[in-house]
Amino acid sequence: MKKIPLVTHFLTVLLATTATAFAAGADRPGAPRLIVQITVDQLRGDLPTRYRDRLGEGGFRYLLEHGVHYANAHFQHATTETIVGHTTLATGAHPSAHGMVANVWYDRELERLVYNIEDSRYRLLTAGADVDSETEIDPTQRKARSEGRSPAAILVSTFSDELAILTAGRAKVFAVSVKDRGAVSMAGHAGTAYWFSKASGEFVTSTYYLEQYPQWVAAWNAERHTDRYAGTSWELLHAQDSYLFGDADDRNWETALPGFGRTFPHAWGTKDGRYYTTLLTLSPAADELTLDFALELLDKEDLGTDDVPDFLSISFSATDYVGHIFGPSSLEAEDNLLRLDRTLARLFKALDERVGLANTLVVLSADHGAPEAPGTLIELGIESAYVDPAAWDKTPAIEALKRRFGVGQPLIEAFYQPYVYLDRQLIAEHDLDQAEVERAVADELMKLDGVALALSSEALRSGAFPEMPLVRKILNNFNPKRSGDIFVVFEPQRFIGDMDGLTVASGHGSPWSYDTFVPIFVAGAGVAPRKVYRRVAPNDIAPTLSAIVGAKPPSGSAGELLIEVFEGRDRGQGVRTTP
Ligand SMILES: [Zn+2]
Repeated sequence: MKKIPLVTHFLTVLLATTATAFAAGADRPGAPRLIVQITVDQLRGDLPTRYRDRLGEGGFRYLLEHGVHYANAHFQHATTETIVGHTTLATGAHPSAHGMVANVWYDRELERLVYNIEDSRYRLLTAGADVDSETEIDPTQRKARSEGRSPAAILVSTFSDELAILTAGRAKVFAVSVKDRGAVSMAGHAGTAYWFSKASGEFVTSTYYLEQYPQWVAAWNAERHTDRYAGTSWELLHAQDSYLFGDADDRNWETALPGFGRTFPHAWGTKDGRYYTTLLTLSPAADELTLDFALELLDKEDLGTDDVPDFLSISFSATDYVGHIFGPSSLEAEDNLLRLDRTLARLFKALDERVGLANTLVVLSADHGAPEAPGTLIELGIESAYVDPAAWDKTPAIEALKRRFGVGQPLIEAFYQPYVYLDRQLIAEHDLDQAEVERAVADELMKLDGVALALSSEALRSGAFPEMPLVRKILNNFNPKRSGDIFVVFEPQRFIGDMDGLTVASGHGSPWSYDTFVPIFVAGAGVAPRKVYRRVAPNDIAPTLSAIVGAKPPSGSAGELLIEVFEGRDRGQGVRTTP
């Protein structure tokens, strides 16, 4: 459907003319031929410049020297998790509107936890590519009950949807990521998403997008690109003593996975190893494979080859996994960033050769920031600790509350960041008032060590909450149909170090600035270089992209336009502006 079939020369000319007429007819001065939206999972705002002297040519340096660099961008919602951030980047909307309130939430109708993009109606196209619950270490993935995936739970349009609408489906829209949620969110409802299956070692999609793989995808997967890492290790790019964390490789808070260890070199093992593909995702190999697939897509789907703007989203996941396992201030994270820099340089070089960077608008941001591992902070004399919500129901205060309400069983059914879920059945059986129980439990949780704020959904619904900036972020995250019973905010530097049984060095997801702070770079297609220090938000990106191509903003967009992007473009050559 989306590919232009073989046509005669005459028809080719005619089609090209039509495309040009389309471009000139719309109010889209200097619209780029291709928009590449890069999302680096867990890339905190300070990280691109932390190792500035060590950056190579043409990667981050291209963005720093040729793009608008927003150095003070913060998400405005409270649950800084992957699907929440990606969907905010894609839609310009807050989670309250786009509906992705957390990586997992409790569905009251289904009476079970759901994984954000699971959809049993659309199975994976590849047999045997389903999440393997035995070896899957991503806890949110393990929550999914169905292997099907779709963007159906995203309640508003994405920029990529608006581009498809504007161009009557002529714009080609694709998204690629190791994480399914990193691709599905960005492809929107109209595009095509591909993600990495750890079970099959291939890039896969679901029947929501395609009935069968294009030949090039089948061929690429058949080449078994993951095999090239077998029997080798993730090694340092440079001499160890030249790194900021060169003398800090072995830290006891880092997660030592069997065979992979916590010091360099990190061995991936043999290709038939049980965790082989998983270990690839916990290293720069994940981003290299993602880019390999994306470049094949760029070529085989002919992106950016006519005047109708195309859209390609690439979400790089390694920074997140490396951050969780080793912490963002670790030798592994430092080397990963330098390798990501090389991966970006390879991407920008390919874009320049195939489409031209002058015709390609590149946007780079992140889905959330990153907290430091408690060990890192404690070593510097800064207080930090892990918290354990699983123990809350047994605390004296909650036990006393249970006695007051006359219930013997656990009142707190579960805690899934950021929400406490109460046992509603128990509350109903005892003829208790749900709102009253919510308020009472929230009041007790507030008194616990490490809890900064516990706010019941009842309080949010009835407007009974304190006027504070923190509450504004919780409201931006509040969707009455999907939010849990009590929203819990931990004190800064307090984390859950346990991901479903796996002990990790650090975990994001808070409303504090280390988690909300991300970089935004916009470069290429006539954008003039500039560094901007005013506070902006990642949900400004989607409406800005809409304005650049002349589309209407996505349906839930709450963002402002990033005006510095237009100022540069308006001064550029050949750009038409209205007097
Ligand atoms: Zn993460």
